[in-house]
Amino acid sequence: MANVVVKKIACPKCSETTDAKLFMSINATNEPTLRGDVLDEKLLKWRCSACGYEARLTYPLLYNDMKNRFMVYLIPEADRFQLEDVELEQKYEKLKGIRKRLAPDFNVFKEKVFIFESGLDDMAVEITKLVISEIVAKKYGLKHVEEGYLSMYDREQNTMGFTFFVGKEREPYVQSARLEIYGKSVGIVSELAIKDKKISGFIKIDREWAENVLYRYKRMKQLGKSADEE
Ligand SMILES: [Zn+2]
Repeated sequence: MANVVVKKIACPKCSETTDAKLFMSINATNEPTLRGDVLDEKLLKWRCSACGYEARLTYPLLYNDMKNRFMVYLIPEADRFQLEDVELEQKYEKLKGIRKRLAPDFNVFKEKVFIFESGLDDMAVEITKLVISEIVAKKYGLKHVEEGYLSMYDREQNTMGFTFFVGKEREPYVQSARLEIYGKSVGIVSELAIKDKKISGFIKIDREWAENVLYRYKRMKQLGKSADEE
């Protein structure tokens, strides 16, 4: 069941207080309606009952999808790589092989859910995204294009698409990629992310992580070493 906390929130506009339902955890398998409500942000909205002012709630939310075997912990502005929550680890001790991820903002949270529901490996997606972002940066004559999310996946059409937010204007740009690049990334992950796959607790798999793996991969290639020697 969802773990809900009710909190009184004072309206920043009219100062009246309205109850807010904070969903501390959601089980997407048992409560599919909550899955939809969180993904379209309905669950994170708060509305003042006196004046109608609307605000977005930001608080840690644990999303658990037992069917697809993943958990995403949305912790706004989480800046660490790994989070080990003793209580949570004990609670889900029996569940092995669950991918646990930290999401520092809502967009990342949503992307992780999309990736895992699509049956993809988020580590390989992150590497693919990094490679594709360099193509987009070149098109725009920029050094880097850093913000982007997987927005489309079609196995039959052999394609995946990323939406990047480019430049100061954060102009959305969709770049598609053939699945071969993803397939190659899966290979890199199986060679170089063995340790990360075994980490307990929640981890942040993002651009920084992908840069690190890709750097090690390129260096390994240059030296002509195999992963075992790394
Ligand atoms: Zn109000």
